[in-house]
Amino acid sequence: MAEQSREIYAQHLSIPNLSDLAKEALHRQLVAKYYMIMGEGSVFLLLMLIGIAQVRKAFKKESELLARQKTFLHSVTHEFKSPVASLRLQIETLLKRNLSAEQQQLALSNALEETDRLDQLLEKILMAARIDNGEVPIYPERINISEALRNGINKLLRAHPHRDIIEDIESGIYAKVDLWAFNSVVNNLVENALIYSPKDKPVTVELKKNENKTILYIKDQGLGIPMDERRKIFQKFYRMGSSTGYKGTGLGLYLVDYFVKKHNGTLIVKENIPCGSIFEVVLETV
Ligand code: ADP
Repeated sequence: MAEQSREIYAQHLSIPNLSDLAKEALHRQLVAKYYMIMGEGSVFLLLMLIGIAQVRKAFKKESELLARQKTFLHSVTHEFKSPVASLRLQIETLLKRNLSAEQQQLALSNALEETDRLDQLLEKILMAARIDNGEVPIYPERINISEALRNGINKLLRAHPHRDIIEDIESGIYAKVDLWAFNSVVNNLVENALIYSPKDKPVTVELKKNENKTILYIKDQGLGIPMDERRKIFQKFYRMGSSTGYKGTGLGLYLVDYFVKKHNGTLIVKENIPCGSIFEVVLETV
């Protein structure tokens, strides 16, 4: 381009009777045109590069989601198979053998536990699908969340009688929450803390009031969550590599994050000292 303008300029300079002033003006015009074309070209190139980068980013995100969906399908099939197989075994045992009343009771309560697991799994999958379709309405009401939390923990203790859940719950804290969603947040966070920590280590649940904020902590002494995973774990279907040996769908924290955001709250994960994780949920007190 510079070469071309120089040629045109040279041609015009050789025009006889062209004054120095006219030559100078012509030169300036050509230079301005040159910079204008170069400028437009650069902007076009820059926009094109930004466009390519965005398409690449979207493509990468889409392929990551696809890969996670595949893993999800694999693990969810597994998750469904094991309670169904266990249910079948309990029923077969009840049918075939002459069991004592005590043994029958045990087989039946094992079967009931498995149906609960299936129910929870289905609930998570259904809820994630309803969230994607924008069909999950939230009805926050002013409730005593200290009480709601204690009730939730009691249920979890009944479901996990051999685990230690330490409660440090300040009484009489009120917040405007949807009770069903609040219970789902507590359940998912405490269940995770129990799954991803050794059976002999306690899980601590704390509820505190700080000025106009209500803070819920779920602390465990388990695997912990490395810094670079702390945002990813809230994505749909995301599971850390270290949790391959554990049952799961990668949906629990996606639901927790959704419900906390719907209440204008915040959710973060921190390191527990000496090991494990702390999930912190901050809500408005009313
Ligand atoms: P999952 O059904 O796999 O537990 P979640 O959405 O509840 O799905 O959690 C996503 C991932 O985050 C888990 O697979 C696990 O890798 C990690 N994670 C969640 N909670 C904990 C925890 N308390 N300690 C360590 N890792 C955790």
